[in-house]
Amino acid sequence: MKYNKEEFKHVSYLWDDEVAPVESVESLVYRSNVLGADQRITNTGGGNTSAKIMETDPLTGEQVEVLWVKGSGGDIRTAKKENFSSLYQEKLDALDKTYQSFEDKGLKSSGEDAMIPMYKHCNFCLNPRASSIDTPLHSMIAEKHVDHLHPNAVIAVASCKAQRELAEVIWGGKMAYVPWMRPGWEAALACEEIYANQPGLSGILMGQHGHTNWASESKSCYETSLWVIETAARYIEEHDKGEMTFGGARVESLNEDDRTALLSAFLPKARGLLSNKVKFISTVQTDDTALRFVNSVDAKRLAKLGTSCPDHFLRTKIQPLYVDFDPKNDDLATLVEKFEQGMIQYRIDYKAYYDACSDENSPAMRDPSPTVVLIPGVGIIGWGKNKSESRVTTEFYNCAIEVMRGAEAISEYTALPQQEAFDIEYWALEEAKLQRMPAEKTLARNVVVVVGAGDGIGKETAFRVAKEGAHVVCADLRLEAAQKTADELTAIYGEGVGVAGTGISSCGPAIALEVDITKRDSVQAMFTQITLAYGGIDNVIVTAGVFLAPGQSGMSNDQMFDVSFAVNVKGGYIVATEANEIWQAQGLKGTLVLTTSVNAAVSKKGSLAYDTSKAAANHLVRELAVELSPLVNVNALAPATVVKGSTMFPRDRVIASLTKYDVEFTESDSDDELRDKLAMFYAQRTLTQQPITPADQAEAAYLLTSGQLSKTTGQVLSVDGGLHEAFLR
Ligand SMILES: [Zn+2]
Repeated sequence: MKYNKEEFKHVSYLWDDEVAPVESVESLVYRSNVLGADQRITNTGGGNTSAKIMETDPLTGEQVEVLWVKGSGGDIRTAKKENFSSLYQEKLDALDKTYQSFEDKGLKSSGEDAMIPMYKHCNFCLNPRASSIDTPLHSMIAEKHVDHLHPNAVIAVASCKAQRELAEVIWGGKMAYVPWMRPGWEAALACEEIYANQPGLSGILMGQHGHTNWASESKSCYETSLWVIETAARYIEEHDKGEMTFGGARVESLNEDDRTALLSAFLPKARGLLSNKVKFISTVQTDDTALRFVNSVDAKRLAKLGTSCPDHFLRTKIQPLYVDFDPKNDDLATLVEKFEQGMIQYRIDYKAYYDACSDENSPAMRDPSPTVVLIPGVGIIGWGKNKSESRVTTEFYNCAIEVMRGAEAISEYTALPQQEAFDIEYWALEEAKLQRMPAEKTLARNVVVVVGAGDGIGKETAFRVAKEGAHVVCADLRLEAAQKTADELTAIYGEGVGVAGTGISSCGPAIALEVDITKRDSVQAMFTQITLAYGGIDNVIVTAGVFLAPGQSGMSNDQMFDVSFAVNVKGGYIVATEANEIWQAQGLKGTLVLTTSVNAAVSKKGSLAYDTSKAAANHLVRELAVELSPLVNVNALAPATVVKGSTMFPRDRVIASLTKYDVEFTESDSDDELRDKLAMFYAQRTLTQQPITPADQAEAAYLLTSGQLSKTTGQVLSVDGGLHEAFLR
C-alpha cells in the first residue's frame, strides 16, 4: 500500500531517521515540521498533529497518558513544543458524559460550543497553550499518532460531486468517508465511530474539508499522511486535462511590462476604493498557475461557486470578486470602472448572503468588501489588514485554485453550501477570536516610505514607525545600507506567515529599495516597486540630504550649489509629486515630512549652499502643503547638530570642530568618544542642554506621521534642543 520514499512525486519525503528524535513530544514536533515544510501537505496555519504519550503526573508521580496536540494558532511548519497543548487523555475520555448531559446537543449546537472551555480543565502540567477546536478529533481516535491535514489534492477529492465514491476508488477502501460537518464534538464522534467499527483503515476523508489519518508510530503516521496525499495527487494527474484545464484559455496574459504598468496604476485606485472603512494591504500573484485560472473559460463560473475548505474561505470570503476585464481591448480606466461596479455589486451580494443566512444571534455583519480580486490577463490580488494577512489570503486562493483544478479533473467541483459557510464565518467562536484581538497600533495598515533609511535619522525613523505597526519601505541611495535596516526590522518583527506573492509582492513587513531622489525616473521606479509590494502608500518621510563642507568636498561653490539644491530641494519636490500621484489615486489621507534644518533660519559663515538650500526646502514644505491639500499634510522636521550616528560627522570633521571650539580630546579617543564630546559641546549651546540624538528626530518624524497632528500642515518643527537664534518669527 505504501510507496518507497523515492517514489513520492507530489509530496516531498523529508523524514530522516538520523535526525528524527525517538518517540516523544520532540518526535511529534519533528513530524509536524517535516509535514508543514511541504506546502502541498497543508496550508499555513491549517491542520494539526498529535501524539498520546505516557508522562509522569506531577500530582501523583504516576504514569499517565497525555494527549499532545497542536494548539490554537501557530503553524505546523514552524511549531515548537510550546505550540502544542497537553491534556490528560483520561479526562478527555470522560468529557463525552458531560456533552451527552447537555439538553441542546448535536451538530452546531450550543452544547458543542460549551465543550471548548472544558479542555482547560483537562490541562496537563499547567500548559498555557490554548487547545484547538480539533482537540476531540485527536482524543477520540484511539490511536497513538494522528494527523489532520488540509492538502489541496485531498480537498479536491473532498470537494467534488462524487466525493464518497471517489474516496473508495482512489484509496482502495483504506479511507473511510464522512460528509461535511462543522469541526467540533459531533464531527469527532462520527470519526470515533468509524475508527472503532472499521478496523484496518488508514484514515478518513472529511467532505469539503481535508482528511485525518493515524498510525501506531510517528514515522508510519507521517508516511501514511504522505501516502494519502500522493495517491490522491496521482489520481488527479492521471485525469488532468492539460491545456483544457478550466476549459482552456479565454484570454491571453498581458506581457510583463504592460502588466506592471497596469498594476502599479490600478492598485492604488483599488486600495482606495476597498478601504472605505479600514485600509488594506495587497499581495499580487501573477505566476503561470494563477494566470491559467484567471484567463480560463471556467474562471468566472468557478469563482462564483466560492472556496471550499473552511480555512480557505475564512480569509478569501465566500467568493472572490471576478472582474470581467478584457486585457486585449480594455484600458486602465475601463478596469477601474469594472472593478468599482463589481465591488459595489459584491457588497450588495454579501449583504444579501448575510441577511439570508443570519439569525438574531448572529454577530453583526463584517466589512462586505472582497478580499480576493481576479483579473483576467493580469492575475490575483489578495487583500488583508497587513502584509502577512494578505499573503495568507492569496495563498488560500492559490490553494482553492488547485482544489478546483483537481476536482474538475476527476469529477465536478462543488463548494460548501452558503449556510454552512456562513455558520463557520459567523461562528460565535470565530467572533470571540476577533474580539480578543489586541487593538491595532497607530500605524497598522499603513505603508510608510522612509527615504534615507540607511543610517542616522532615517534609520532611527524606520525603527520608530515599525514599532507602531507600519509597513516600512527603507529607501536609500545606498541599497546595501537600506537592506541592512530592512533586515534588522524583519529580524525584530518577523516575516509573518503565508506563502504567496510574485516577485517583490512576496515580501514581508519591511523592504529595501535603492533610490536617487534627484532623478525622477529613479523615484518613479521606487514607487512602482512599493505599489507592487503593498498596493499603495500612506506616509512619506524624507530624511535624505546632503551637506558639503566648504573646502573639503573638492567642488567649486557653483557645483556645491547645484548638488545641494538638487538633493535638498528638488529631491524633496520630486518625491512629493510622485507620491502625490499615488495619494490622489487612492483618495486616502496621507502625510509627507521633509527634513530641513535649523540652518535654514540661522545665517552664518561657511555653509552657504547648504543653508540656503534648507531655507528653500522650508518654503517648499509650505508650497507643497498648499498644493497637496486637503488630502496630504506636509510638514518639515528641522534638526540641529545630531552628531550621534550621522554620516555627516566623520572623524576628521569632528576633530576639526573640536579643535575649532577648543574642546579637549586625545588622538586615542574612539570615533564615538569624539562624537560624544562634540555632542556635549553643542548641547551646552542649547536651552535644554542635552545632546540631540537621532531618536529625538525620529520621535518628531513619527509624531508628524501618526495622525495625532492631523490639523497641522505647512509647518516647520525644530528639534534642536532650543536654539533661540533659530526661533521662527
Ligand atoms: Zn481542518
